[in-house]
Amino acid sequence: MTSYDEETISAIHRELHGHLPSEPALRVKALESVLVEKKLFTSADIDNWVDAYTDKIGPINGAEVVARAWLDPDFKARLLGDGGKAFDEMGFPSRPDFVLKVVENTAAVHNLVVCTLCSCYPLHLLGMSPAWYKSNEYRARAVRDPRGVLAEFGVDIVDDVEVRVWDSTSERRFLVLPQRPAGTADWDAAKLAALVTRNAMIGTQRDLMAGDLTAGDLTAEGA
Ligand code: FE
Repeated sequence: MTSYDEETISAIHRELHGHLPSEPALRVKALESVLVEKKLFTSADIDNWVDAYTDKIGPINGAEVVARAWLDPDFKARLLGDGGKAFDEMGFPSRPDFVLKVVENTAAVHNLVVCTLCSCYPLHLLGMSPAWYKSNEYRARAVRDPRGVLAEFGVDIVDDVEVRVWDSTSERRFLVLPQRPAGTADWDAAKLAALVTRNAMIGTQRDLMAGDLTAGDLTAEGA
């Protein structure tokens, strides 16, 4: 009769899985292999796409729009009225498949964006979404306990500030307009944009600080 130690087998099983890529990573790799094999894409196309969304778009488009809204009250009104149109105006074409709603943080309100169903996100304005945005935990808890989630991001919201949670869908996506930091009165658009982070536009960061800007954050043109 064969005997085995169930716990030891389980530990070996966990250990083996620990060295494998995650299941989604394996599925993506398999999908990429099929697309390349069928000559629908080349590996270089995929690398260029990832590179564009990770490094070239990043949150730069959104940050430029936020900076302009801080400097130009008329533009800000247009942005809050029709986000897609305002982004169009800045040369970032809106997507026909969803409406972009921009929600403004104020001294009395903090906005937090989530997609409870999957991971809807304005990719063309903010670049790749962070892994935590797609996690089951964030998607479930952002609605149930937004203040608790924010505290884990280091954002403590005092009781008299209202927290509004916006649930994205494939037809409606959101972007947070953060508050302009103190001490930036004479800053130009490029310098202001360099302060704006991806998390601030999702709402998992509230306070942007003028002192957080380092020389490396500015491009040669923006410096
Ligand atoms: Fe989604």
